[in-house]
Amino acid sequence: MFRKAFPIVRSVKVARNCSGRHASTTASTTTVQPRICIVGAGPAGFYTAQYILKHLDNSSIDIVEKLPVPFGLVRFGVAPDHPEVKNVINTFTKTAENPRVRFLGNLSLGKDFTLEELRQRYHAVLLTYGAEQDNTLNIPNETLKNVLSAREFVAWYNGLPGYENLNPDLSGKSLTLLGQGNVAVDVARIVLSSVDELKKTDITEYALEALSRSQIETVHLVGRRGPLQAAFTIKELREMLKLSTCATEWRGDDFDHVEESIPNLPRPRKRITELMLKSLSEQQQGQNKPTGSRRFQPVFFRSPINIIGHEKVEAVEYVVNRLVDGRAIPTEQRETIATDLVCRSIGYRAISMDKHINFDERKGCVNNAGGRVLKRTLTGSDQTIDDIEDKHETGLYASGWLATGPTGVILTTMNNSFAVADAVCRDFTNNVIRVNGSRPGLDLSGKQYVSWNGWKAIDAEEVRLGAAKGKPREKLICVKTMLQIASNASN
Ligand code: FAD
Ligand code: NAP
Repeated sequence: MFRKAFPIVRSVKVARNCSGRHASTTASTTTVQPRICIVGAGPAGFYTAQYILKHLDNSSIDIVEKLPVPFGLVRFGVAPDHPEVKNVINTFTKTAENPRVRFLGNLSLGKDFTLEELRQRYHAVLLTYGAEQDNTLNIPNETLKNVLSAREFVAWYNGLPGYENLNPDLSGKSLTLLGQGNVAVDVARIVLSSVDELKKTDITEYALEALSRSQIETVHLVGRRGPLQAAFTIKELREMLKLSTCATEWRGDDFDHVEESIPNLPRPRKRITELMLKSLSEQQQGQNKPTGSRRFQPVFFRSPINIIGHEKVEAVEYVVNRLVDGRAIPTEQRETIATDLVCRSIGYRAISMDKHINFDERKGCVNNAGGRVLKRTLTGSDQTIDDIEDKHETGLYASGWLATGPTGVILTTMNNSFAVADAVCRDFTNNVIRVNGSRPGLDLSGKQYVSWNGWKAIDAEEVRLGAAKGKPREKLICVKTMLQIASNASN
């Protein structure tokens, strides 16, 4: 939980003389509303807004979102069979319905407005637009047919507009996931689950239909390091082990010397390692037989070096690694494992949406120190950063995955966003940001944007469509349809 106690910042009062300039204490005192723009309506955007509303009286916030619908990866990333995770939407809704907040959907930084424009029209701008691309392996044949990214696969089953025609080829017997994070495990679970379970969720109807025809029986989850370094977490592993439709099959050799290191492990790592060993032991005693033919096969110490195939992927060639100080070091040994479909799942990646953003292309995040965006000549990795004065772009901030890089659960994103929002509040009270005149906010003339009422109309329609099928909602995919429904709602 976020426990740090931050001071409450009161409204910003500005003394002005009759020419409107910042003036002496004898002039009358007027309250100017600090006007803030947040770009991106995912968890980072909403948590930042929530904190600022509470701690900076009188502030008004516009949350600008590229899509007609809010919530970012909570809607388009979190797996459909994890509805409890999506309860954060209730908190985000309360924030959006605060009279000091405006949601402006269907407006995109880089397309509908520039960063310069925002900085002129608001006292402060927060970039929270997440990480929407994915990392690549840079190995031969990565663009071969049937090689996808897990990001695309997730976007497909979760109904992100633009991915509905991905049509992943599920006609083969085996899927290989490259990477062992929770995203890879989400994909494995969705592919190996029974469709009867999935049909009660908000998974898209087209994905459900494709999964019902899937021939995939085996899913390999391949990591470059060992069981002690696996990136997936215990809850997600437990869900895999409990799948009634599928057996988990470990490779015994991957666990050489693992048991003896258990006493020295930190508690969470200890618990997950014990669970893996217990499952391995059950497998060795023949106790893990599933009712069906599906198999989940984690494979450790393998880095992909070549994707093999002619018209489509047929196999992946791996180098066998050994571990030195926790790092994967390639050996001379190779292994080739046949497969019909590959999803690489080695992390998401942010991109720069505007040439004026100080962006670290290598790390894929905005150069910032504690959320304050650095001046363009500086990078976050500058050793001397603490000694440099005047190092920040006044009034420009970043939080969430765009600022931290694409790791961390919603709670991590919340903690980061509250801390960045606190920096914003402090900069207002300490007059780092001078509220020396009101700001107009975004020029919306001629722009087709979706208001919060517009989103509520889309939401109601999705819930109505879902109810007919026994689902919590059937997501709308077509942006044009969403805009039509939203435009009928009053603002
Ligand atoms: P995002 O959620 O990506 O939000 C960014 C928002 O910015 C989006 O709405 C996007 O449309 C918008 N945007 C993008 N570009 C622009 C632009 N140019 N202009 C305006 N708006 C723009 N965490 C958990 O705790 N539990 C889970 O079960 C879980 N499952 C996950 C599953 C997947 C597949 C992934 C990838 C992550 C998951 N996470 C989970 C992590 C969680 O989703 C992240 O911690 C969190 O979403 C990061 O929030 P964010 O606001 O930084 O980014
Ligand atoms: P992740 O947890 O960082 O996992 C990335 C995986 O890719 C790791 O196994 C990593 O191995 C591997 N990898 C990275 N570069 C590689 C390379 N060049 N070659 C081979 N393997 C490589 O990322 P993620 O799965 O995308 O998840 C992102 C965040 O969202 C995480 O914090 C995750 O917990 C969260 N999330 C949570 C849930 C949930 O709570 N259910 C669901 C989905 C996502 P190394 O460890 O060796 O680097």
